[in-house]
Amino acid sequence: MIKKLSLLASVLCLFLVLLSPISVRASDGLTVLGKSVEAEFPLKLNFSFSAESDVNITDVRLHYTVDRASFAQVISEVYIEFVPATTVEAEWAWDMRKTGGLPPGSIVEYWWTVEDVGGNRVETKPARVQFNDTRHLWNNLTEGEVTLYWYEGNQPFADEIMTTAQQVLARLAEDTGAELKKPVEIYIYASTQDLLGAMIFPQEWTGGVAFTRHGAVAIGIPPDNLDWGRRALAHELTHLVIHQMTFNPYNDLPTWLDEGLAMYGEGTPEPIYATVLAKAIAEDSLISVRSLSSPFSAHAEEAVLGYIQSYSLVEFLISNYGQSQMLELLNTFGEGSSYDGAVNRVYGFDMDGLDSLWRQYIAE
Ligand SMILES: [Zn+2]
Repeated sequence: MIKKLSLLASVLCLFLVLLSPISVRASDGLTVLGKSVEAEFPLKLNFSFSAESDVNITDVRLHYTVDRASFAQVISEVYIEFVPATTVEAEWAWDMRKTGGLPPGSIVEYWWTVEDVGGNRVETKPARVQFNDTRHLWNNLTEGEVTLYWYEGNQPFADEIMTTAQQVLARLAEDTGAELKKPVEIYIYASTQDLLGAMIFPQEWTGGVAFTRHGAVAIGIPPDNLDWGRRALAHELTHLVIHQMTFNPYNDLPTWLDEGLAMYGEGTPEPIYATVLAKAIAEDSLISVRSLSSPFSAHAEEAVLGYIQSYSLVEFLISNYGQSQMLELLNTFGEGSSYDGAVNRVYGFDMDGLDSLWRQYIAE
């Protein structure tokens, strides 16, 4: 009973701490009067802060960090410019146009430090703000590691998208052994236009984006274009799985493996791709596996060839060597292996060897 009471007391204390207005008092009258943050998605996070002291306040700094996959926590520090005074009101806007955007739902942790001329210093407790796209009224649905957010389309629409997501994950696990290790969030915008409006410097052809380090996908799916949407979702979700499997501080993946698996996740490619591949074979204009390890060409036709060749390479590796080898390949890349080193260790040939074996395979 005594234990229970003390537990209750400490719970109450915790509540009081959480509820008390932010008046952090340090030695000798240096006091934080208030702090707040407002999200203006996707452009800005507006921070404000005020403090007072008996003597002039001389230093105010904002510190923040974004919650995402990384190997070293990066903390940004902002020096606020102001004229020293006993009362200071500071404002600072994080302008995403200068830093690149964040996906909806990103969590930013921040705290302030303030100092006065008397050498007093106060550091506020870390607080968290979620950078939500409040321009839409989102519904949500969770199954396993996947949470879906959408604002247009009825429940069956969302159910279908969720079913697709679960099928993609099941197929990837079966064919490649790759699985999600952490939860992911999928934001379904109602059109490509809406999606572009949620991004900083979007590329016009963007239909979907995988924010691999944030475990998030944003995608524009009009409720009447679900077929396209299923494919795009499968593609971006596969990117998330593959990046979770292979994320390491040393090396990235060859583009042919990353995009090839994402295409594989979509299922059988659309007929146009087979046409492009057949044409390249006939004209002897296939791209080498080594070239496909770098980002694809900006030219549409060559990019399409890059995607279908990548798909075909991955399909060749999976159907000829099986699931366990593909899983081993991903795990080897996860250790930060070089491209040739990983392929060689798992399959016994390097990327040039892969190139010639694959050319034989598609010629059959
Ligand atoms: Zn892709």
